[in-house]
Amino acid sequence: MSYVGPDSDGFFDGDGDGPRRPRRFSGGPLTVALAALVPTALAGWLIWQVVGGPGENEPAKTLPAASRSSTAGAGAEPTAPSPSKSDDGKKGDGSPSATPSKPKPSASSAKPATSGPLKGKVVVIDPGHNPGNFRHTAEINRLVDIGTNRKECDTTGTSTNAGYTEAQFTLDVSRRLRTLLQQQGATVELTQNGDRPWGPCVDERARIGNKAHADAVISVHADGSAAGNRGFHVILPASVNSGSANTTAIAGPSRDLGERVAGNFLRATGSAPSNYIGGGTGLDVRKDLGGLNLSTQPKVFIECGNMRDAKDAALLTSGAWRQKAAQGMSDGIVSFLRG
Ligand code: ZN
Repeated sequence: MSYVGPDSDGFFDGDGDGPRRPRRFSGGPLTVALAALVPTALAGWLIWQVVGGPGENEPAKTLPAASRSSTAGAGAEPTAPSPSKSDDGKKGDGSPSATPSKPKPSASSAKPATSGPLKGKVVVIDPGHNPGNFRHTAEINRLVDIGTNRKECDTTGTSTNAGYTEAQFTLDVSRRLRTLLQQQGATVELTQNGDRPWGPCVDERARIGNKAHADAVISVHADGSAAGNRGFHVILPASVNSGSANTTAIAGPSRDLGERVAGNFLRATGSAPSNYIGGGTGLDVRKDLGGLNLSTQPKVFIECGNMRDAKDAALLTSGAWRQKAAQGMSDGIVSFLRG
């Protein structure tokens, strides 16, 4: 069936929390935007350009502290859903995939770490959406409290035009990331591992990280924006204190985490920061996401690319690229946890 809810298409895939906002800047030349804003991602992007490409597997480096000056706007202006194409007919986990995931035997429960620099550290990975959400629209459409307001429990997510779903993508990248972090000695928990029919709801996704006392949490997504919009961005929690949401304690550490993830992601993948949000920084700040609002642990979202853009889709459907993406995230998390 076609997508449900305003989250599936348009500028933001919605990270499970719809409704999305209009883009906040009008997409001027990337170089202009880059010049003025947070240097973390920019530095890595420029370095990548200079050294000539992605693919290196060098160990994580601690990135220079970035400017705290730009929040790139923390607005959450709701907007009408974009009436973009619905790309019917190939939704769900039966959709063709250019490079199918390789499911690994696993459970979503935490596993004991062995040894390594992250021994004793807990990381929760949140694979955005769920391949089964398409079949459980009533369940995922019910509203949950996200502190600032009420929103849908979860959404279907987006897909490439060829039908590779965001939910497939997020599970695959999350499993790769889990392996990399476990190799570093971390204890890793997934909020879902394709082992439940739908969800979890965004509030439960946050609670899983909280209950695990996670040292870092990352929610993995890919965007569903207009063709021509390209690149990745990391979403940081705004400082929110409203109802059951209080991110005042985690906003700072989450920014640190997000900057490190962004810098390492662009180095590992060679992808440029988003050309349609974040002013070229690869960073965005939002207060309308339950998964961030309700977190008590340092947490970020990453939108790895735009599934609706053919060039980005070619990357997102490549297993080799997804491995680089996972490596970049892992390097960023390791950098954050090692300080
Ligand atoms: Zn998403």
